[in-house]
Order: sequence, then C-alpha cells, then structure tokens
Amino acid sequence: MTGPDDSHALRGVRAGELAPLPTRAHRQHRAYSCTNCGHWQRWFAHTPPPSCPVCSDVRNELPVDGFAFLRETEVDALVTTSWREAVPGVTEFWCDPVVGLGSHGWVLETADGLLGFEAAPWYSADALAELRRRGGLRVLASSHVHGFGGLWQLQDELDPPVVSVGVHDLTWTKAFRVTWPADDRTELAPGITLHRTGGHFPGHSVLHDADRGLFFCGDSLKIDLDADGNATALSAHKAFHAQIPLSRAELRSMREIVGALEFDTVFSPFEFARGVTTRHVVALVDHMLANPPSAAPVPMDVLAAKVGVFA
Ligand SMILES: [Zn+2]
Ligand SMILES: [Zn+2]
Repeated sequence: MTGPDDSHALRGVRAGELAPLPTRAHRQHRAYSCTNCGHWQRWFAHTPPPSCPVCSDVRNELPVDGFAFLRETEVDALVTTSWREAVPGVTEFWCDPVVGLGSHGWVLETADGLLGFEAAPWYSADALAELRRRGGLRVLASSHVHGFGGLWQLQDELDPPVVSVGVHDLTWTKAFRVTWPADDRTELAPGITLHRTGGHFPGHSVLHDADRGLFFCGDSLKIDLDADGNATALSAHKAFHAQIPLSRAELRSMREIVGALEFDTVFSPFEFARGVTTRHVVALVDHMLANPPSAAPVPMDVLAAKVGVFA
C-alpha cells in the first residue's frame, strides 16, 4: 500500500527544509547518560537529572544503589567508537567498553543517501568525521527508546533533514527533535519502509529494506548468538529484563505485520544475524501462540523444524 499519506519521496529535501529549526535553547542544557542503561537526557547544567525514565519504566531494572550519570566529556573519554561493514551497504557503529544497554547503530546506503537506524551510545570525533566524509545522514530513525543511543548527538552534529520515530513514542524523545513523526507505515527512502509493530512499546517500529531482504527488528525480536555469530534462538517480549511476555493480540499483530515482509538477515539494536528469515519469525510467533505466555528463547532448530513443515 502506498499513497500520499504513507509514502514520501525525500529526494531534493535539504536540512531544515521540512520544518524550520526552533531555537536551540536546549543547547544551554547538558546531556547526561545514565550509567545503568545509557539513556541520554538533557538537564540543567548545575545538577544531574533526579532519575532515569528508562530505568524507572516497567521494562527495565532500577540501578542497585541510586542513579548516576556521565556527562558528554566523560563518555567521550571512556569509550572508543568503532565501525565496520556488517553486510554490503550497511555499516555498524558501536562503542567499547559497553555503555548502558550497549546499542549498535546501523547506517544504510540508499538511493537517497545515508539512512541511520538506531544509534551507538556515543560517536567520537573520528566516527562523526567518517559520516561527514560519506555525505552525512539524509534520514535518522529508530525503533524505540532502547535503540536511541546517541541519536541526539547525530542530530546536533549532522542535522539530517528527517528524524523519524513512531508518533506513539514521542514521550521518549525529549533529548532530540523528531521532524517526521511516523504513523503505521512510512517510506523513509526508496524501498526502505518503517512499519509500526507496537508490542514492546506502543510506537515500536521496524525498518524493512525490501530490495536487500534486511529486517531491522528493534526489540520485536531478541536474537541469541553463538561465539561465531550464528543465531541459536529467537524470542519476543514485552520486557526483556523483566521477562514479561507479549499479549496474544500483540503476537497476532506482529505475525500479520512482520509476516508480510521478506527478509533473510535481521538486525536488532544490539546484534545482527544472517539466515534468520520471515518464516523463522512466523514460526516463533506460532510457537508462542500455541503455548502459555512466555518470553523464553525458542531454539532455532525447533523453529527450523516448523519452517520445514510448510516449506
Ligand atoms: Zn537508565
Ligand atoms: Zn527495547
């Protein structure tokens, strides 16, 4: 389904053209990263935030002994940002040592320029220079708050024309400015479309690259990997840390939306795996619907056997 309400050609659009930038009053504020989960907040320069909304949310764990935050200069001194080609046309960015949840950012080459999806916790000066050398970002988007990482920093530094997050999740986007709130289906580049799955978060959205068969699943899936990077199990959850399952209706909705997308490589905000296909995910959902609610991983060989049944 395409149409004027859900399909957008961004060709020719330049930074700041879609919506004039507001005053950058927030630059008077400091950015603080939660030491427990890595979530960035802008807050007053003279005092850190009183709490972290992500750690306080039901899906995550509170820190053991109170909140603590790192400033930009502290994170910059602490981590190294690295990047590599994950698959042809997709660059992976991450930080060592792991900060917070340890999100990874993906940068896709598209017919309209670079599209960033999710973000690493921090982008060093070298990482930002690499993105600028490659023409900067045309579009920046994320599945949900656990994949935001240093997204605010990419907007401040690179000012992509489009910054898109599901409209139902705007409450989590205080550290940056969403220029293109996404509905249920939003084409962000030719053949590359954001689909709202809901479930984990109301506005949770996945990105599908139809031509290359790539599925950026956000936290709609958790992929267990072996030491060689091969998928050993899949799971789906409302809350990973708290192990809260998705509801039956959420699973059925996921089956309908994700089952319509063809892919054979899956990228979460934390890892990627080749050989995980649409049919594995449909088999996972069918397995979960046939059993009592659970967020436990289902081994790939169990899913592969189900795939074989209707292959
Ligand atoms: Zn936190
Ligand atoms: Zn999540």
